[in-house]
This record gives sequence, C-alpha cells and structure tokens, in this order.
Amino acid sequence: MDATEALDEIAFRLETERAPQFKVQAFRKASATVGAWSTDELRARAADGRLKATKGIGASTLEVILQALDGGIPDRLAKLRSAETSPLTESGRELRPQIRGDLHAHSDWSDGTTPIPQMVAAAISLGREYLALTDHSPNLTVAHGLTAERLEQQLAEIEGLREVLESRGAGLRLLTGIEVDILDDGTLDQRPELLGRLDIVVASIHSHLRADARTMTERMLGAITDERTTILGHCTGRLVEGSRGTRPPSEFDAERIFAACAENDVAVEINARPERQDPPDELIALALEAGCLFSIDSDAHAPGQLALLDYGIERAALCGVPAERIITTWPVERLLDWAH
Ligand SMILES: [Zn+2]
Ligand SMILES: [Zn+2]
Repeated sequence: MDATEALDEIAFRLETERAPQFKVQAFRKASATVGAWSTDELRARAADGRLKATKGIGASTLEVILQALDGGIPDRLAKLRSAETSPLTESGRELRPQIRGDLHAHSDWSDGTTPIPQMVAAAISLGREYLALTDHSPNLTVAHGLTAERLEQQLAEIEGLREVLESRGAGLRLLTGIEVDILDDGTLDQRPELLGRLDIVVASIHSHLRADARTMTERMLGAITDERTTILGHCTGRLVEGSRGTRPPSEFDAERIFAACAENDVAVEINARPERQDPPDELIALALEAGCLFSIDSDAHAPGQLALLDYGIERAALCGVPAERIITTWPVERLLDWAH
C-alpha cells in the first residue's frame, strides 16, 4: 500500500470518528512530509534510519509507513476499517443514494483544519457531485471570519481550482459560498454585493443565542427575508453532546420562522453534526408542515467530517422528509437556478 494514502486514510477515518485534532494532525503532517519523496527515496530513508529521525515522524506514523512499505495494510488502518460504523438504518440507506451534494463546509481560510483542495478531494472520494465552501464572515473573529478582501481572494482561488477540476474531469462542481453571521439587527455580516455573487449563502446565528424569543424571531426574520439568503443554518444553535459541552436551543417563534422560510424560498438546514442534531425532530416536523425545503449539510471543518453527512441523512429519513423537498438531492443546475 502507498504510505501517503495509508496516512491520509487514517487521518480521514480518525476525523470521521471525531478523534482529537492533535492525533489527526500527526498523520496529516507525516503524509505531507512523506508525500514529497518518491517511493525509492522513502525506502532509502527508511533503510538507513533517516526516516526515524525526521521531524514530525513519530512512533505510530513510522510504524504505519514501514508496514505500508512492506506491502501490507498497516495494522492501524486495518483496525480503523474494521471498526467502521454507520448511523444509517433502512430508511437512511434508501435516502442516501439520492443525496448529491453538501452545501456547508469550512476550510483553513476560517476555522477549518485543511486547505480547500483537500476538502475537495475528500468530497470527490465520497461521491459528492457538488460541494459549497462556506467559510465564516468577519464578525466571527474567533473563527478567523473572512473580510470582504479575503473573501475576494478566496473566490479567485476557487475559480482556479474549478478550472483544474474541470480539466481533470473530476465530476465535482465546487460552489462558492459563505456561512454568514446574522447580526443582532437581522442584517447579514458581509457586503451585499459580494453576497450576491456567491452560489450559496448559509445564514447562521453564532452570538447572543440566549436573547428572548421576540428578539431572536425578529433577528432571524431579517435574514430570511434578505433575498441573498439561501439556507438558514443550524437554526436553534443547540449542542447536544461533544467536547464543547451542551447548549439549549435558542427560543423563537418557530411557526413564523418556518412560514417565512417557505414564503421566501429559504431552505431549512438539517445540520448533520452529531453534536448539533439541529433542528430537533419536533422542529423538522413543524418545518415540513409549513412547506419548507431542506438542505442536509455536514458543516465539516475537516475532510473526514464530510462523511458525517450520514447522520443528517438518517435524521431526515426518520423524520419522513421527502427526497424531493431536500435541495441537496437536486442536480446542480436545478439547485443553482433555484438559489439564484
Ligand atoms: Zn455555524
Ligand atoms: Zn459552519
């Protein structure tokens, strides 16, 4: 087995298992180091001890590399492969093949761990037809939200990447986007002209989540009625498990919010992250009744987290959301027509 591929797959699988970042990064860094050498060069370095002395190659990454060079599947990888679990039951397994894309993902331009090309490669390996890159907006300083200037730079990089993908016949359409903060006054945290140029605008609340229901409702309505908004991100902001602890859902007039989403053609996000599971089941039922569209999104911050989309697919299936009402089952042309 190719050593770089083995290290990358281990990192990917650790991310899907939601292992701590430092563990994942050891494998990603080792992969970058080893990937710069030819197999012959790597063999020579392994034989004379230089590999062991290389900065960033530790005991566990060294073992993986040596076992890969021996021609087998490294033990660490075999163990991760055999431990693979899926959240999908029968209904989730029926819906999954109909899902074509993912409209909410982050790169290292904001608080993601990885450059855009690695996110794209992972999305391709998962069979996605499209992926929207939606890094954070300026207000979210803790997440290195993108200023208008940096977003312009990112758009230029994406343009270049699109050309590369097209010339390779990669079969994945990389969409431009943003996860834009909904500010306290209900406006969106980026220049309107710039938002208008993006394929996908996910509008989310990340601050003052505990404001009273009336304030939250007005704030969310401001974003939903903005013609540039395509998706309402993780609408309650709740956290149900995980390293960041738990957080109760925000309070708002859900009937008014979902009625406004239906009227303004804003899709309600089913955020797949196991620690979010947002919206809760009862709100998905309410949004269904209101006639809303849905978008099942991974909200991935690392390549392996793109695979966590299955958790959202399973929830949508269990809640009885028809595939036709999930915009990520639509072909990309139909999706873009609708979004624009
Ligand atoms: Zn968010
Ligand atoms: Zn996000």
